[in-house]
Amino acid sequence: MDISPYDAIVVGSGATGGIAALTLAEQGIKVLVIEAGPQVKRHEASNHEPKSTLKRLSGVLTKKHAYQCQHPGYWKNNPDLYSNELKHPYDFPKKKPFLWTQGKQYGGRSLTWGGITLRLSSEDFHPAKKDGFGPNWPISYDELSPHYDFIENFCGIYGRKDDIKEVPDGKYIGEIPLTENETVFGSKVKSKLDYPFIQSRGFDRNSSVKEKKWPKSSSLGSSLKKSLDTGNVQIISNYLVESFEINKATELASKLTIVNLENGQKEELNCDLILLCASTISTLRILLNSEYKSNSSGFKDNSGKLGKYLMDHISICRFFSVSKNKKLR
Ligand SMILES: Cc1cc2nc3c(=O)[nH]c(=O)nc-3n(C[C@H](O)[C@H](O)[C@H](O)COP(=O)(O)OP(=O)(O)OC[C@H]3O[C@@H](n4cnc5c(N)ncnc54)[C@H](O)[C@@H]3O)c2cc1C
Repeated sequence: MDISPYDAIVVGSGATGGIAALTLAEQGIKVLVIEAGPQVKRHEASNHEPKSTLKRLSGVLTKKHAYQCQHPGYWKNNPDLYSNELKHPYDFPKKKPFLWTQGKQYGGRSLTWGGITLRLSSEDFHPAKKDGFGPNWPISYDELSPHYDFIENFCGIYGRKDDIKEVPDGKYIGEIPLTENETVFGSKVKSKLDYPFIQSRGFDRNSSVKEKKWPKSSSLGSSLKKSLDTGNVQIISNYLVESFEINKATELASKLTIVNLENGQKEELNCDLILLCASTISTLRILLNSEYKSNSSGFKDNSGKLGKYLMDHISICRFFSVSKNKKLR
């Protein structure tokens, strides 16, 4: 493998990996991004109907997407951007089903996410106060808030100030006006159910799809693109990070074992700064693979919390549409 010298390694090229690479690259640090998935071309990633619908049906029938098809987003996106569960199986206790959406490609799930940018609320950081379940987070909303400000500004997020404690307002560049029907729908939700109604917070409508550029909501159209422009970032695709080893003197991670997914060969890479951004569960897998018990140079989980109290992503949606010609009353 032909790679230039680097000071830091970022594992994963999704939303998290993109920002990590950019943050380091802007400080003049040479970064190597390692991505398990392949590169995809813009037109290959787009949703093409009716081809995508046929692929989705095949994904359900062949069980390639047996679990992921339960995610509402699966029915809107190109199904090729969801990982093949026959090749990447996972298990769970029967009574505790878990839906794990995975995007194993350059850009990760930033190519499929809905682009809804809600902040966690202050209460979410100390949940046990409310329901007695789980530990408090080691950080607070106030500590995270400036980072939300930064990323909303970087992405150019639209939204309305709704003043709802559970979904704090962010730094928005403007509001996208509601359509007439959305306004009627919102007022009915308020008057009939007395629920607050908020407009989705997020990106401007899909302008970049028409322009044939990667959308700004993807790492490929924003953070990774900008990080590559610095000249400090190189990316290798189709390489899976298996585990890391600890330098006994410094007690820091200093060596990665990676697998070339095209020929199955393993290689070792030395680096003193390693950032695991492979998504919640895949990052956990790397950490578990690297634990002390399986490898004398592994790391020790002194907290005893590894693999517990984690969440990847859940989605609860109800899609419906109202024809432009039909007026809600
Ligand atoms: C359909 C859908 C809709 C969503 N909508 C929203 C939404 O509206 N709002 C919201 O806030 N969130 C949403 N989410 C969740 C959001 O997409 C994720 O939380 C976010 O993209 C996770 O980013 P990440 O960088 O941590 O992981 P990922 O985007 O999953 O990126 C991880 C990357 O690491 C790579 N990788 C994994 N393991 C390895 C390894 N061992 N070695 C090398 N590379 C590896 C993967 O191939 C992948 O490219 C949605 C998710 C889906 C699937």
